[in-house]
Amino acid sequence: MALVVHKYGGTSMGSTDRIKNVARRVAKWHDAGYQIIVVPSAMSGETNRLIGMAREIMPQPDPRELDMLASTGEQVSVALLAMALHALGKEAVSYAGWQVAIRTDSAFTKARIQSIDDVKVTRDLDAGRIVIITGFQGVDGDGNIATLGRGGSDTSAVAIAVAMNAKECLIYTDVDGVYTTDPRVVSEARRLNTVTFEEMLEMASLGSKVLQIRSVEFAGNYKMPTRVLSSLTDPMIALEEETVSGTLISFEEDTNMEQAAITGIAFNRDEAKITVLGVPDRPGIAFQILGPVAEANIEVDMIIQNQSVDGKTDFTFTVPRGEYQKSMEVLTNSVKAHIGAASIAGDAKVSKVSVVGVGMRSHVGIASTMFRTLSEEGINILMISTSEIKISVLIDEKYMELAVRALHKAFDLENAD
Ligand code: ASP
Ligand code: MG
Repeated sequence: MALVVHKYGGTSMGSTDRIKNVARRVAKWHDAGYQIIVVPSAMSGETNRLIGMAREIMPQPDPRELDMLASTGEQVSVALLAMALHALGKEAVSYAGWQVAIRTDSAFTKARIQSIDDVKVTRDLDAGRIVIITGFQGVDGDGNIATLGRGGSDTSAVAIAVAMNAKECLIYTDVDGVYTTDPRVVSEARRLNTVTFEEMLEMASLGSKVLQIRSVEFAGNYKMPTRVLSSLTDPMIALEEETVSGTLISFEEDTNMEQAAITGIAFNRDEAKITVLGVPDRPGIAFQILGPVAEANIEVDMIIQNQSVDGKTDFTFTVPRGEYQKSMEVLTNSVKAHIGAASIAGDAKVSKVSVVGVGMRSHVGIASTMFRTLSEEGINILMISTSEIKISVLIDEKYMELAVRALHKAFDLENAD
């Protein structure tokens, strides 16, 4: 009998009526002969509410206690879902992560899963029960509850699917799949039937927040087929239709069809650019500039060092906009005088737009199409970076939506796969 894992997000679990619908959907799969493990999130808004209460008590609560608190949202969900399945005459049993046990490290509020014990779950599945496991959490070596970070239920679901050797992990959410770009920016954006996990990783890290990025890494590392699909359809929709709906995150070697050059356009509005001007061009300079930035826990993304003139160069890099002030302070206070830079300039109104696609490996001219399209729109490129399957440009934030729309059209993304 094929085993599948279903994950339901907060919106899908948002009310007792929605939970009843989840139960009907799960029961339908069980009736069709599947073994099922369900991994729900907390009811929508619940995790925020819990963390909000903690912050009313003190601004920086102890991370262990925060996890103790935040993990309760999912415990409510699993119990209610078990009851909803019982009401349909199904045998179902719910577990918190620590009961399974899902073992994690002790990095509270951002723990990583280390191992998952399959004994209880296998026993229940073999007895014909539907097993429901809290998302987002596990237990560390000392018995403390630890959570996996916001959005962590996706990662729980994929990890459980891997540990239990499931056939597929289905992530039910409030959108019906992964799109060529954000449909709020480009109304012609199209749902992708498949996307490779590498593309998904790029799109997820660039702000398409359909899945927690670590769940995509898990799916990729362990080759777990993972499907993103809607939980807002009629729960009794025919299984033949449901099993091919949404977007399947697949593996490149599985897709033998002719690849399109580009799969999607990702963007990130909230970037900032910093330039250290008139830096003496000598060994160690990049380290002396970026070392203190890294020590302040600021993530640097794009980097350019200019050709030097008379032994002096300019060094430019980008950081998330929220870290702009802090980065400027670090540079002004502990870098500028130390390295003998002339000045520091910054621009916190820049955005990043990227074209993503494994098809880039076999198509030439992607970069030139991208640059031509932007030039035809009169958009100035401030920085460029590339990887094997992605080309990113940094531009003035006021042109971001225009750039995304123009590129979507230039790469013909509105037309079918
Ligand atoms: N309930 C947690 C959160 O809101 C985990 C999740 O929903 O994936 O972040
Ligand atoms: Mg989520």
